[in-house]
Amino acid sequence: MRTINKIIIHCTATKEGQDVTAKQVDTWHRQRGWSGIGYHYLVRLDGTIESGRPLEQVGAHTLGQNKYSIGICYAGGLDSKGNSKDTRTDQQKDALINLISDLKERFPSATIHGHREYSNKDCPCFDAKEEYKDIGTVRTSPTQSTTVQASAVTIASGIGTGIGAVGNLDGTAQLILIGFACTIILAGMWILRERLRKWANGDR
Ligand SMILES: [Zn+2]
Repeated sequence: MRTINKIIIHCTATKEGQDVTAKQVDTWHRQRGWSGIGYHYLVRLDGTIESGRPLEQVGAHTLGQNKYSIGICYAGGLDSKGNSKDTRTDQQKDALINLISDLKERFPSATIHGHREYSNKDCPCFDAKEEYKDIGTVRTSPTQSTTVQASAVTIASGIGTGIGAVGNLDGTAQLILIGFACTIILAGMWILRERLRKWANGDR
């Protein structure tokens, strides 16, 4: 596998609502005299991710940046009049995040960019660098602390629910329940004490 240090986002520069397949782009790029589709992935309107050029091969999508990069393209980028517009559907936005996240796992040192950072075009018609700046950087440790927090909240709410449940019972039932709980705790302590005494005597 070649070295990858950039993931560069593009649009097909086609009108909003017009779906484009990797096959179509392949045809367009062959008409330009290229060996085939210049992007490595194409994201269709419904969020389907189609493979283009194999990752191992250098793409043809960003002048001067192809050798160490991956090119991802979404179908769209123009409004009905042909002006630049971020036309990504919700499905395309989700698919792009998933695809970029996967690639960041495979190529952790790669940074994410929009084509327009390297040309005077508008492509991909949104600020890809800004939008995807946190992908792959906030995954490992914050997830752990969130899990710990989540379980602490679960335990706390569990205890709260227990106390609340006792509070909902009438007086007699509360006394019975508290008495029952005390009996179990005392029994536990007694068993533990007996156990410790036997251990102390060397009786196991
Ligand atoms: Zn582009």
